[in-house]
Amino acid sequence: MRYPKIRELIEAIKALIKGPYTSKFPFKPHVPPERYRGQPVYNDDECVGCGACSEVCTTGCIKMEDDLDSDPPKRKLTVRYESCIFCGQCQAACITKEGIKQTNKLDDLSVFDRSEAIDSVEKELVLCEGCGCLIGAKEHLAWVAKKLGPLAYSSPTSYLAALKDLKLAYLKVEKSEELTRQDRIKTLCPKCRREITLET
Ligand code: SF4
Ligand code: SF4
Repeated sequence: MRYPKIRELIEAIKALIKGPYTSKFPFKPHVPPERYRGQPVYNDDECVGCGACSEVCTTGCIKMEDDLDSDPPKRKLTVRYESCIFCGQCQAACITKEGIKQTNKLDDLSVFDRSEAIDSVEKELVLCEGCGCLIGAKEHLAWVAKKLGPLAYSSPTSYLAALKDLKLAYLKVEKSEELTRQDRIKTLCPKCRREITLET
């Protein structure tokens, strides 16, 4: 017969006196340790919609969907907790450092329908006024322009983004039928800007 080790005996006596080590979840809410690195959650005020978190996600559980036909065009980023492994790469790669952050939350994952275990954020997109292709998220362009400071004024797309962010320029982007040289002061993709500069 094998006898229990001293350490196991001590643990058993402690458990008898203090009660079980496990929590009574789901009858009582689970209280995770303060520094537990659990579900990553979006912060709408700090996320600029760049999509970097989706690019680096190790399990591909952050889905980025662009709807260019809606008015205004929108980008939706959705993190699905069913396949998130809480690695923290999305938080590490976030360009604003605050757009997505791990919390110590865990109990929201106890759902009957997996599609409910998600968090998402939506951002407006900016399209080229020439060809209508995607340039980027509106808040991302303004963030880049702010980062560049005075250097942003070398690109009309950047300084228009900065002016629009300050509500100093008209926000609606109209697609032009035919671009001429004076259209250079418009929100344009690199291809259209190059064509106007070199060909008109
Ligand atoms: S914590 Fe890791 S797996 Fe989860 S969303 Fe972020 S990058 Fe993806
Ligand atoms: S700002 Fe951060 S959270 Fe928002 S899309 Fe970019 S990387 Fe993701």
